[in-house]
Amino acid sequence: MSEPKPTLNLNDMHDLAVARMFAGNQAFAERIAQEDPEFFARQARQQEPHTLWIGCSDSRVSSDVITNTDPGNLFVHRNVANLVVHTDFNVLSAIDYAVNHLHVQHIVVCGHYQCGGVLAAMQATEMGLIDNWLRNIKDVYRLHSAELEALPDQPARARRLVELNVFEQVYNVCKTSTVQKSWREHGRPFVHGWVYDLETGLIKDLEVNVSGRRDLEEIYRFDMDKALHHD
Ligand SMILES: [Zn+2]
Repeated sequence: MSEPKPTLNLNDMHDLAVARMFAGNQAFAERIAQEDPEFFARQARQQEPHTLWIGCSDSRVSSDVITNTDPGNLFVHRNVANLVVHTDFNVLSAIDYAVNHLHVQHIVVCGHYQCGGVLAAMQATEMGLIDNWLRNIKDVYRLHSAELEALPDQPARARRLVELNVFEQVYNVCKTSTVQKSWREHGRPFVHGWVYDLETGLIKDLEVNVSGRRDLEEIYRFDMDKALHHD
């Protein structure tokens, strides 16, 4: 016996959302083709993004919308709470491809205030599988607990933890041998830490721009000369 096939019911709000996405896509394709008839032919040939964007999966923090950039400008990796975890082959592959094949000039780690992932990590409630992911944020809290616990209340701590989480993820990007090798050979990428404010729509630069090994604690610096002898 075959399973009944799911059918779209356009009276259902969720199905309507799917229909709207298709209609929106058609409107997008028509508008662009009118404004710039060569656009899709150019896009189909190649991508030349200037930046790897590492952001949160949150539906309100869409990288191209909040930076007003065009398709082709940003190479994007998003996950819950914009984490760069050293055992995550997804983010490591995105960094490797962006740096070594797309030759991006910049890597941006962009967090956002009111991040559900950060807020959940601050609580003791068990949430299931995602607890394993959020534990990385608990580690950031532990590293900075003296500063966080000196703050007056929970909202202030949550805002600061969002920023500190971005700092740590910026350093995690810089700890990778991919980035350190590229600094040595090409003098790029610049790595930036930003936070998006949902209440104003504005991005704040945390000014943790890192562009060289000297900005890293010594334990994380690879000695590239030695490494090259083993290649
Ligand atoms: Zn978030």
